[in-house]
Amino acid sequence: MTGLGHVGVITDTGRKRRRNEDAYVCEPPLFAIADGMGGAQAGEVASRLAAAALKESGAKTLGGEQRISDLIQEANRRVYDRSSTDPNTSGMGTTITVALVENGNVAFGHVGDSRAYLIRDGRMEQVTEDHSLVNELLKSGKLSPEEAESHPQRSVITRALGTDPDVDVDTFTIAAEAGDVFLLCSDGLTDMVGESEILELVERNRQDIGVALKSLVKAANRSGGEDNITVVAFEIAESQMLTHDGQTRENVLSAPSRDDEVTLTEADAVPAVDTAVVSTAEIQAEVEAQERQERAKRRRRRRRRVVAWLVLIVIAAGIALALYLRFLR
Ligand code: MN
Repeated sequence: MTGLGHVGVITDTGRKRRRNEDAYVCEPPLFAIADGMGGAQAGEVASRLAAAALKESGAKTLGGEQRISDLIQEANRRVYDRSSTDPNTSGMGTTITVALVENGNVAFGHVGDSRAYLIRDGRMEQVTEDHSLVNELLKSGKLSPEEAESHPQRSVITRALGTDPDVDVDTFTIAAEAGDVFLLCSDGLTDMVGESEILELVERNRQDIGVALKSLVKAANRSGGEDNITVVAFEIAESQMLTHDGQTRENVLSAPSRDDEVTLTEADAVPAVDTAVVSTAEIQAEVEAQERQERAKRRRRRRRRVVAWLVLIVIAAGIALALYLRFLR
């Protein structure tokens, strides 16, 4: 019997982009990443709407490929509806790669050029197929793998979520084995770091998924960090273990507890699902906000102490006055 082992996620803006348009879901047994595209901040809106839709519909009801396909269709509708009603987001879209672990199987759903990899027995295999122009050219023999690697239109995708009322979703299932590591990653990793290096970094840091993920982001930034980098990793272990909150949280890098806020109305859905973007500036801002709160709390406590003393003094004075008046009589 196999089950989920350690899980982890990391996201980084990279070196060249101002914003992080990647979003992720890391809510065992449901995992996903989305890489948004569109002008202005529309890419961010698309990927976060899609991630929010998945989280909301959630992993509560299992159901393998069919379930994933339904989840992705629902996410597609939400992104599409928004882009057809909000001119600021018109034409936006996102990739989506979803994995659901149940009964020793991992079911996948996939649209776009984000990737899922399986690391098993020291080998790494891409299990999703890129829906990209370059991959089409590769398959038809018009490009060699070397040409594909540096092709200027490398980021052009042939299928996206949210650009049409319906989306064609690839689904498939892999029978999991104890020791498997699955990676979901955006092209900010795979365009910057070769597969052999990804494999090596994960294998070398196998005992700590968090460290492994950090090393992947570092490698991507070292080679230029041209795009946002997001990786979700989950491990398959012998029997059910470590999926309770405490343990998984520990490994969820850069996922603040604001996770619970996901949701709500169309209007605030996007800012609320802020977990995917954790820049150092935001962490700094959060730390400062906490310090401010602490200081305010201390001030309130001091004020309350002063008020308590004043009340005591007034009562004591009242008693003294009462006694004095009585003795006078
Ligand atoms: Mn990207």
